[in-house]
Amino acid sequence: MTISAPPKYRGRLAPSPTGYLHLGHARTFWMAQERARQNGGELILRNEDLDSTRFKMEFVDAMIEDMRWFGFDWSEGPGVGGPFAPYNQSERMSFYRAALEKLVAGDFIYPCICSRKDIQAATRAPHANDDGEPIYPGTCRNNSKLKIQNSKFAWRFRVPDGETISFQDLNCGEQIFFAGKDFGDFVVWRGDDVPAYQLACVVDDAAMQITEVVRGADLLVSTARQILLYRALGLAVPDFFHCALMLDAQGERLAKRHDSLSLRELRGQGATPESLRQRHFAGDSLG
Ligand code: GLU
Repeated sequence: MTISAPPKYRGRLAPSPTGYLHLGHARTFWMAQERARQNGGELILRNEDLDSTRFKMEFVDAMIEDMRWFGFDWSEGPGVGGPFAPYNQSERMSFYRAALEKLVAGDFIYPCICSRKDIQAATRAPHANDDGEPIYPGTCRNNSKLKIQNSKFAWRFRVPDGETISFQDLNCGEQIFFAGKDFGDFVVWRGDDVPAYQLACVVDDAAMQITEVVRGADLLVSTARQILLYRALGLAVPDFFHCALMLDAQGERLAKRHDSLSLRELRGQGATPESLRQRHFAGDSLG
């Protein structure tokens, strides 16, 4: 009998270059790096630069510089290369299109012409879940006569209403979400012809053979959505480790608007990576 060795640990850092990285990002990424180290694995950097309306080239350069300064070290990524290149999402459109075609062929998704405004107006009792995404009221899902010629439309994933999606998070324990209640039909391809985060992330994590996804707890509901995508695409689901979010002095989660806590700003004030880690990450458990 041959016993095959478990796959080698592969983790990833997946920043979006839409602003300067702040301490909250650094903390999640540090956890990802530590987990990769502890497991004797590889760490991959993936530049999530699909949203060209929001990202700026200067942020890509700044992001990489700030990450190097802080002490991040990846073995595959933009500029470094690796077996699963390219590592810039903007250069990986063919992967996303192939997945989209698979979802169309399997009838997992449907065209949707609703704007955000339409959805808000159609949602009588606005029910936004944890991540603020309103539950899609099903307007286009139920419209068999929908005309999509000449109009911009998105592709939306039809969630199995009433089904329980659960997973064992390696940091937060068992997670249980109800499709159709905790999250609704979600966009996989936007009306402006850009793959949505949910699809691009699943396609890349699978293609890059990521074994464990470490990211912020704000993405727990997205993980439930993504599990449905893995299933529909016939891909293996990785392990998940969601980190608690870093809060500011007022108890609000850090966002890119917290410029004062950007790595750039802190560095300018003379902080060193070691001092920042000691001061802000000291109590972190590494699971
Ligand atoms: N680019 C995404 C973000 O910065 C990545 C999320 C993830 O780790 O899956 O929010």
